[in-house]
Amino acid sequence: MSYVFPPAPITTVPVVGSDNLFPVHRIYCVGRNYAEHAKEMGFTGREAPFFFMKPADAVLVVSDGATGEMPYPTLTQDLHHEIELVVALGKGGKNIKAADAFEHIFGYAVGLDMTRRDLQAEAKKQGRPWEIGKGFDHSAPMTPIVPTAQAGDIHNAAIWLNVNGAKRQSSEVTKLIWSVAETIEVLSQAWELQAGDLIFSGTPEGVAAVLKGDLLEGGVQGLPALKVKLV
Ligand code: MN
Repeated sequence: MSYVFPPAPITTVPVVGSDNLFPVHRIYCVGRNYAEHAKEMGFTGREAPFFFMKPADAVLVVSDGATGEMPYPTLTQDLHHEIELVVALGKGGKNIKAADAFEHIFGYAVGLDMTRRDLQAEAKKQGRPWEIGKGFDHSAPMTPIVPTAQAGDIHNAAIWLNVNGAKRQSSEVTKLIWSVAETIEVLSQAWELQAGDLIFSGTPEGVAAVLKGDLLEGGVQGLPALKVKLV
């Protein structure tokens, strides 16, 4: 037996400090996970965490020091940036307890959950799925992955995004409503997590539109900066 056509390549992300590649399984994303961002989206209070996914091949790897080129997507007039801490799992499992969650983390990266906000808003209004707003091609630019041992104190790190040199988003990972460990606990009740899963942990306040030609520069203290130009 053979494939009827060649299978798509496995999406991979380089690992900082080695020649190894991290093979991506799924991309889970957490919605409204910083209080001030929840407010700017019209919500308040600590909701139960909720999730959506992007396809693994939405990843656009940008190596450290390089400027990635993201094509401005079709069908939108309102493309938004969402800078996020990305958690890369090296070990899967079901019903993982928050206290054990860190054993499952391989490393961390910086990512952008790029969002066609107008299409997402229309989907919300109509009670439709979010995929067209969130899961489009190249919608997940990200840096290489830093293994946990080299990543420093990520959970208290600053997180920020500038557009064309002007500050747009600035917060701290410690302000996550649902911490990384709690997120893994709840996610692993809904899905069996696997090595290779990425978790986009949520964005702080300050999301806004970007245009073709804009340069996005963001980061999480202790990780490589992410530079993306919209083309
Ligand atoms: Mn997001």
